[in-house]
Amino acid sequence: MRVVEQFISLQGEGRWAGAPSVFIRLAGCPLHCRWCDTPYALAPDAGEERAIEDIVRSVQECMCRHVVVTGGEPLVAKGLEELLSALHQAGKYITLETSATEYREITCDLVSISPKLSNSTPLTRGEEHEARRLNPGAISRFITRHQVQLKFVVDSEKDLAEIDELLTQLPPLLPEVIMLMPQAADRAAYLEKAPRVAQWCLERGWSFSPRLHLLLWNGQKGY
Ligand code: SF4
Repeated sequence: MRVVEQFISLQGEGRWAGAPSVFIRLAGCPLHCRWCDTPYALAPDAGEERAIEDIVRSVQECMCRHVVVTGGEPLVAKGLEELLSALHQAGKYITLETSATEYREITCDLVSISPKLSNSTPLTRGEEHEARRLNPGAISRFITRHQVQLKFVVDSEKDLAEIDELLTQLPPLLPEVIMLMPQAADRAAYLEKAPRVAQWCLERGWSFSPRLHLLLWNGQKGY
């Protein structure tokens, strides 16, 4: 598999924020989000080729129980099913970070879905992104088969209407698994937007997801 990077850090977002975790970043993504914070992982040939046994062996050398498989978009990676099964057999708690633009049968403890709203569409050449960024059918299949959380990167109040519209197309969800995160590339922007986003969460009964990697390390690569 093409692995762009592997490192240990604290899970920065969602239900397990703060949990020490091994991150495995796989190569490739069909989207082109305007605010993507891992552009170096988007090409399918980014990173280096590694055998699944080698990845699992290196993960077992770490004391972390949590493994976060991320990207790019890990659902486009060849061998993903085998990697997740091997990590599961090794006794790891697996979180898959995905935008869920497609569905695959996988072994996973938590599917952490980040559906992309229109605020992600790039300003130029956005047609392909716009056509692919949301797949309610795929998201629904993950919801009915897995533990999930839905994390939305939000920028303005108009994003809430898009979330409401998407939720009408999905199976019922507990409100606390719907999470909002401020769109921000650095700590200052995050802190400026966070109180507004927290207020929207309180008004709707949704959760506020922190972005610890911005708060603690200001978005530095490798954390
Ligand atoms: S889906 Fe994720 S990895 Fe892909 S372009 Fe968007 S933010 Fe970047």
